[in-house]
Amino acid sequence: MISRIILQSVRHRRAERFFYLSAVLLLLSCRHTEPPIQIAGTAQGTYYSVQYCDKEHRNLQPQIDSLLDAFDQSVSLWVDSSLLRQINSGKTDSLDDILQSLLEKSLMIEQYTDGAFNCKVGRLVQSWGFSFSKRSIPDSLSLQTMLDAAHADVSIANHRLVRTNSSTELDFNAIAQGYASDLIAQMLERYGISDYLVDIGGEVVAHGKKPDGSLWRVGIEEPSKDSCSAPIVYSAIQLSDASVVTSGSYRKYYERDGLRFSHTIDPATGQPVQHTLLSVSVVEKECWLADAMATAYMVMGLENAKAFIASHPHGPGTDAVLFIYDRGGALESYATPGFDKLIIK
Ligand code: AMP
Ligand code: MG
Repeated sequence: MISRIILQSVRHRRAERFFYLSAVLLLLSCRHTEPPIQIAGTAQGTYYSVQYCDKEHRNLQPQIDSLLDAFDQSVSLWVDSSLLRQINSGKTDSLDDILQSLLEKSLMIEQYTDGAFNCKVGRLVQSWGFSFSKRSIPDSLSLQTMLDAAHADVSIANHRLVRTNSSTELDFNAIAQGYASDLIAQMLERYGISDYLVDIGGEVVAHGKKPDGSLWRVGIEEPSKDSCSAPIVYSAIQLSDASVVTSGSYRKYYERDGLRFSHTIDPATGQPVQHTLLSVSVVEKECWLADAMATAYMVMGLENAKAFIASHPHGPGTDAVLFIYDRGGALESYATPGFDKLIIK
């Protein structure tokens, strides 16, 4: 079913912005004379950058900004008035097109990944302090209540959200930036632009070529020791009409009693994941899909993710994946053959 998929907050906390800025490093050195048009700004609590080649030299910043503003008004958990905040607080159950699409995609990926990806973890994410509300480590009773909310069914009927548990809250942060990158790419195509690189906080869509005729190149960040270290490129890949997204546990986390709590929640336990997998990069045609699968693999952990890939040959998000993990204090990596082919050696 998933293979038929055709087809990705304005909280400007410094640390988060830094994370997003460095999640994927763009290697954009154009060697020739006319550089692409470059547009940059902020959206969804992070930076965005769009580069494109346009013979008509149009400045599409107003159109891009208004698309991203509308997106935030719909999906952002950091915008008090967003439709998603209103839905989560029970003020409305009416979905707009963006939320409906994100929910449909999320439910498909939840099924595909046996529940590793779960957009109903909203309350858990907040409770562990990775959203707009204050951290309050849950006791076992409230943990169970939030787990029940995350595992309760939701569905869509006549553009409305139907909840079987009224306390279920949705969180699309694991897929929204990728989807927004897709929407900008589609907008550029509508303007007849086919050579571009869209990057929203490290969720990257590359299409066509750079002005010098070469493919777009993207650097994958080396997982850092802490959330403030300067980004270093671990490996660089070439992208041809594809997206790449990296999920990691090394920028967004907090430490307590010597333990690191990652912002990725394991929906099976309700706890932040704790394993040796430091980052996962997924290359896929659609950015939202790469985004969702990168998060799902972070939940699964290295061995389960490798087993998932082995048991889903040709499945969405399984062809080109890079895992970077910790082995006794040293960084090691595993790249699927599909990812290995993209690495600039
Ligand atoms: P990403 O950086 O794309 O991996 O997304 C991480 C964000 O997705 C977190 O900050 C949460 O808001 C949300 N999230 C956490 N755990 C999950 C999960 N298991 N499934 C879906 N979304 C999640
Ligand atoms: Mg994601």
